[in-house]
Amino acid sequence: MVLFAWQDYKDYKLYELKLEGAEEQNLVRKWSTENPLWDFHKPSRNESVLKVMIPPEEASGFIETLRNYHLEYKVLIEDLAPLVQAQRAENLEKKLLIQWPHIDVLSVFYTHSEINDYLDSLPERYPKRVQVKQFGWSYERRALKVLTITNGDGRRNKPVILIDGTVHAREWISPSMALYIIQQLLDHYVDNQELLQDYDWVIMPVVNADGYEYTHTDSRYWRKTRRPTSNPDCIGTDINRNFGYEWGHDEGSSSDPCEDIYRGERAFDQPESQVLRDVMLHYRGRLNFYLSLHSYGNYFLLPWGYTSDFPDTYQDMMSVADAGAKAIIYSTNGIYSYGSTYYVLYPTHTADFALGVVNATVSMTMELPAAGFQGFDPWVSHIERLVTESWVGVRAMAAEVIRRYPA
Ligand SMILES: [Zn+2]
Repeated sequence: MVLFAWQDYKDYKLYELKLEGAEEQNLVRKWSTENPLWDFHKPSRNESVLKVMIPPEEASGFIETLRNYHLEYKVLIEDLAPLVQAQRAENLEKKLLIQWPHIDVLSVFYTHSEINDYLDSLPERYPKRVQVKQFGWSYERRALKVLTITNGDGRRNKPVILIDGTVHAREWISPSMALYIIQQLLDHYVDNQELLQDYDWVIMPVVNADGYEYTHTDSRYWRKTRRPTSNPDCIGTDINRNFGYEWGHDEGSSSDPCEDIYRGERAFDQPESQVLRDVMLHYRGRLNFYLSLHSYGNYFLLPWGYTSDFPDTYQDMMSVADAGAKAIIYSTNGIYSYGSTYYVLYPTHTADFALGVVNATVSMTMELPAAGFQGFDPWVSHIERLVTESWVGVRAMAAEVIRRYPA
């Protein structure tokens, strides 16, 4: 009998590999297809060092494979369990110290339902400036909510900056960042009012609600949705490979439901993808900046992801990314790489769709910095450093968009 659903990651190991040349890069791609339980985290397309998480029952096969190919590796963590346990305990402890309805986004990771409660509390505090709208439901019937923030001047149809978070469940700094942006625009309005004078902000902190909740209750490193697939052993689809623009025409998605980059049976067959699509389409004609918050790797990723070609407006979008990268360097010395998704990392479909179908003026995926032992798992003590630095970049990019594309 299973008393606790919580996956403890007992004896899961974290390795670091060093790859040399394209041949070894291709090997890793092949292994991750053949062994969906080998969880590779490749920070970028051309990166030579990568991390991989291996379950205990796969460890001997994994090591044997590396030895056969004479690949160098080192063990970073022998057993993930105590670390995962400590992080979970720390977050729950911190949460107990804070009395609802106050929330402290700098010291706690909140669940999807807590985030929804927070969003629902805002219209009472800012009746003229916010609106909470539900655009649909997740597969497990969680309400998918979107917050609109204005300066309250009543002017309609301003251009929109649309920000989404938590397309991938385990990237916990992403919802924290979305909440931090909301607080900057509401609680620190005086410092940021020029960002709201001619533009409205639309923020969806959690797209993959089921997956994100699952990382809190069951399995910390879950990435996909929670909808069953044609394979009874494998659950979930990668929302960022499920969007209906050149769906399936890229190198970075998979037709195998057991892979973490599974693209689904058809484009938009996930309810969460449909909802995010509908949010984007709702603002068609007004969408001047689409920004999708992911982690990790310090990247501003521009379309296209599906092809090595560049969109016509590529240089304009690069100027916006440049403003963000410069602002972060001046502020913290943090280094961001930026450019076409295809060359820098791997396909990001939501940003391709926002440009290709919704005609967003600037469309971008932001990979927030790595933290913690895997990269997806900052300690709560890391949140403040990560979100304050990232806000410097987001703020500078928003200001650049507003300057370049006046209402
Ligand atoms: Zn992601």
